[in-house]
Amino acid sequence: MKRILIIGGVAAGATAAARARRLDNQADITILEAGEDVSFANCGLPYYLGGEIPNRSSLILASPETFDDQYQVKVHTGTEAIKINKEAHTVTTFNKKKGEQTDYSYDKLILAQGGKPVTPPLPGVEKDHVFKLWTLEDMDHIDSFIAQKDPQTAVVVGGGFIGLEMVEALSNRGMKVSLVEKAPQIMINLESEISGFLTEELLSYGVDIHVNKGLSEIKDHQVILDDKSKIEADMVLLSIGVRPTLGLAQEAGLTIGESGGLWVNEYLQTSDSDIYAAGDINEISHRLHDKKIRIPLAGPANRQGRIAAENALGRQKSYKGAMGSSIVKLFDASAGSTGLSLTQAKDAGYEADAVVVHKASYTAYYPGSQKVTLMLIYDKKTGKVLGAQSAGYVGIDKRLDVIATAIAGNLSIEDLEELDLAYAPPFNSPNGPVNMAAFTAVNKNTGFSPSLLAKDVEDYLIGQEAAVIDLRDPISFNKAHLEGSNNLSQNMIRQNMDQIPKDQAILLISEDGQKGHVALRMLHGAGYGKVVNLSGGYLSLERQQRVKAFEHLQVGLFSLPKKEINPSEQTEESEVEKEEITQEGPLVVDVRTPGEYAMGAYPGAVSIPLDELQSRASELGDKDRHIILYCASGARSSYGQRVLMQMGFSQVENGGGLHDMMARA
Ligand SMILES: Cc1cc2nc3c(=O)[nH]c(=O)nc-3n(C[C@H](O)[C@H](O)[C@H](O)COP(=O)(O)OP(=O)(O)OC[C@H]3O[C@@H](n4cnc5c(N)ncnc54)[C@H](O)[C@@H]3O)c2cc1C
Repeated sequence: MKRILIIGGVAAGATAAARARRLDNQADITILEAGEDVSFANCGLPYYLGGEIPNRSSLILASPETFDDQYQVKVHTGTEAIKINKEAHTVTTFNKKKGEQTDYSYDKLILAQGGKPVTPPLPGVEKDHVFKLWTLEDMDHIDSFIAQKDPQTAVVVGGGFIGLEMVEALSNRGMKVSLVEKAPQIMINLESEISGFLTEELLSYGVDIHVNKGLSEIKDHQVILDDKSKIEADMVLLSIGVRPTLGLAQEAGLTIGESGGLWVNEYLQTSDSDIYAAGDINEISHRLHDKKIRIPLAGPANRQGRIAAENALGRQKSYKGAMGSSIVKLFDASAGSTGLSLTQAKDAGYEADAVVVHKASYTAYYPGSQKVTLMLIYDKKTGKVLGAQSAGYVGIDKRLDVIATAIAGNLSIEDLEELDLAYAPPFNSPNGPVNMAAFTAVNKNTGFSPSLLAKDVEDYLIGQEAAVIDLRDPISFNKAHLEGSNNLSQNMIRQNMDQIPKDQAILLISEDGQKGHVALRMLHGAGYGKVVNLSGGYLSLERQQRVKAFEHLQVGLFSLPKKEINPSEQTEESEVEKEEITQEGPLVVDVRTPGEYAMGAYPGAVSIPLDELQSRASELGDKDRHIILYCASGARSSYGQRVLMQMGFSQVENGGGLHDMMARA
């Protein structure tokens, strides 16, 4: 009978034990766990604190008793392993409650001690209102502190995913939250424009963000930052990183890897052939570039636990490594990444490039559809997909998972173009964000539609002395634009081509990059060879500016919507100010939705959404009245024109898009 001893009983350790039992009915399997709980859902802790998960008990996935009953695995909680005796094949433990030392023997040992949150050595970190969140006990401390002390203000230190989840949780508990981050942006693994989306969400919810600043001291109701500024803080949550728990391994002389995690081979075997390791404690290989890294996430920990158990029982299963697929929810928003970021890909030696699309999560006409931002990162030489980053309100996880699978399958951007993904209006578009990002990447990589990323706009404009044409409608343009840009619709460009020299470098900016691509193809067709489209359009430029302001460019920012955790009363959809329908002169009708109309409309235009045009036709007056319909692009208004003409209106004109209409004003 083989004796399998496991140190650590949460993600990797618990998985290893369960897998080992399924593989070997006879094995003697024991878990040593220093804490009071095994197999609890640490990823769920912030959601319990925030109130989304109502029952604490649902975070406990298994108990020592269930392990014994279901798996015949012995679990010793409150039992800390204090020494590995490699020669004797024993582990010495100390049980604090009993005050006892005990030795446990093993044939194969699996280390699954995970990591520990980093605590900075700063004045005040030991105070009672300063917390970390790693265990159920930590969560209980925070919960009872909030219940007893009713803190009004909180500072979260660290803008990684636990920090962001806690910003939301503490805001949900009614606190005014400030976020402090030493790096120039939150979620440092995300490209800045993707991080910009989360920044906008934080600002909308009234969270104060302090980037490029570290903590220097914690006082009773205040923290002091390294620039001497002060922030009110009735409580402080530290989430500045995780270090692998290596004490035991180091003392036992096991090899530590170059990235600071425990070294293991592809079979998750440490430098001692009878000791395996799994989870946050390990250094692993990146699946794409094979370099050694640490990826302290639950998915890799669980999978390693499984493999370590198999190999400890004599199999030879290799672990292929991880690629850091991760996602975070922040209030209504979510963002995440898989594979390499553009920066990481370049650092790893790839000739990497990227494109950004903002495409509806599912057909725009189906209620609830929202834009998915998707940055696709690929190798210019081979077309191989290297990574993706995504942000939005709906359908982010799906796009990341599709691309994670594509990376695992070694697919190229051309393969992604052809990917046959499930579609019906409530789920996707016939050419959803993944296909669309692939089309855009192939268009860029083949030179069919050159584009550049928002972060590169400044260098490009300075280097090329390019003219900037902003294709958005004049109302959006007037609200926010890049200083020095020219606001022209595609029609206006076509009409004024004789005034634009063919060798002029031009940067096209549209709302999300799509119209820029169409205008670029028109200009290329007309002989303009130095035209570039801004990938992701103004949406990307604005998010980039929000996170990393350009040195020389003045980029206007739209005002952000104000959002509340518990809106006191449901805010009504903004009431559209109604224009009176007069009987004189041509009648201009805006057939867009009331929401679009509220954002800005042609002066004097009345709002009759396309869907209501037929039922409200009697409001338009005589059938021979001159009526001009318009919408955003001219498509809906052309349909409206047909509807009215079929009803007998004789002088109905399609005014086209708002841009064309404004040119008449
Ligand atoms: C608040 C929070 C939210 C998270 N959210 C996510 C998420 O959304 N997605 C995601 O992928 N990951 C998330 N993670 C990370 C994820 O939980 C970890 O990557 C995963 O738990 C690592 O598993 P592990 O088994 O290696 O280590 P752990 O789960 O940390 O377990 C290690 C166990 O070993 C025990 N131990 C340590 N030393 C000894 C010793 N000497 N003797 C006995 N026992 C010992 C510890 O007490 C601990 O219980 C989150 C983590 C936290 C804390």
